[in-house]
Amino acid sequence: MNLTVKVLLGMALGIVVGLVINLGGLSPAGSFVNEYLVDGLFLVVGKLFVNALKMMVVPLVLFSLICGVCGIGDIRLLGRIGTKAFVLYIFTTAIAIATGILLAAGLGIGEGMNAVTETVFTGKDSPPLSEVLINIVPSNPVSAMATGEMLAIIFFAILCGVGMLMVGKKAQPVVEFVELLNEVMMKMVTIIMALAPYAVFCLLAKAIGSLGLDLLVKLMGYVAVLISVLLFHLFVTLQVILKIFSGLSSMTFLKKMRNVQVFAFSTSSSNATIPVTLRTVTERLGVKNSVASFTVPFGATINMDGTAIMQGVATVFIANVYGVDLGFGGYLTVILMSVLASIGTAGVPGVGLIMLSMVFAQVGLPIEGIGLILGVDRLLDMIRTAVNVSGDAVVSVIVAKSEGQLDLDIYNDPDAGAFDTDDVHLDEEVEREMAQMVRNTHDHK
Ligand code: ASP
Repeated sequence: MNLTVKVLLGMALGIVVGLVINLGGLSPAGSFVNEYLVDGLFLVVGKLFVNALKMMVVPLVLFSLICGVCGIGDIRLLGRIGTKAFVLYIFTTAIAIATGILLAAGLGIGEGMNAVTETVFTGKDSPPLSEVLINIVPSNPVSAMATGEMLAIIFFAILCGVGMLMVGKKAQPVVEFVELLNEVMMKMVTIIMALAPYAVFCLLAKAIGSLGLDLLVKLMGYVAVLISVLLFHLFVTLQVILKIFSGLSSMTFLKKMRNVQVFAFSTSSSNATIPVTLRTVTERLGVKNSVASFTVPFGATINMDGTAIMQGVATVFIANVYGVDLGFGGYLTVILMSVLASIGTAGVPGVGLIMLSMVFAQVGLPIEGIGLILGVDRLLDMIRTAVNVSGDAVVSVIVAKSEGQLDLDIYNDPDAGAFDTDDVHLDEEVEREMAQMVRNTHDHK
């Protein structure tokens, strides 16, 4: 059984166990199932795995992007890649939110519902655009890495790579060193991935086990419309965009992206999924590292199609519940604000709601209205994160194809770069050689 099948199996079993726990009411506070399974084993194993993925994000982005810049061959290409990726990210986000608004408004969801909400939601502030721009250049790269500020890390890595190019031939050992470090990081991702089936099971059993299913039923209209638009965007809009701009096969794309989507779904975080997205986009879809090492972390930070859809649908829903008529201008503001908000906020769980409070503040919708949808957001966050990472990959493929940085043989080969548990093995011969080498260097000192 290959790893993808195992991961999918882990996902299916996790959902089933989660549903059994949830529907069977097996997990009241203080019970055995709650203490030792849901908030015990499942929580610990799931969190360990997410931590392991997050652990890889900063070094991986740093090393692979430095390698990407050094390996690009023509530095002007970097500017073109950046511009194309940025424009496409904004374009897909705008289409996503417009689809959400159109469908939700067309169906009139939330009309006639009563606005009483027991859950209080006080919006956290998302950073103003000026601050986002200022923070692109880190005053301290170590602190930027420590706090995982993606745009700042991207900036530092690009500058580092450009510096190495300027030093030229003399910098070759450093470039080779970073190349090797990058390879080591990728191997570490492979090790972590081998544990994915168990972790995905635990993450989903925990998430579905503690979901408020009764709320899902109560908000059926909102949930159903949102999920439909998300699926439409993933399977239709993004695929049409892929076809038009690159002419590549959607089937192949979707098949190869399955793993990434499952990870995004289980972790609810585009950021934590970066290692898996990067590996898939380069080794399975054939995008050269020079493009992917930039577009993937950049996309995880600024491109959130799924989140934008949620914002569009939620805005219409809550406006209808409160009987506010936003009008055409109001909806245009919503689109603009959502696109801007998505640039400034990182892909971490639940951030979409924070961005939504910023949008609401702009168009004058009551922020406490978000309390209405808070209870069902956990599941929706999972689904929209899977859409978010798919958008990042589509744009990476399109940009790479247009710049001749896509290896079509890899793209079309169904087995290229497939995840396999067999990849994780240590060669005893190599171990002995390494030990000897270390001893030799040590003795020479
Ligand atoms: N969890 C989403 C992501 O990481 C962001 C959000 O919509 O809350 O992409």
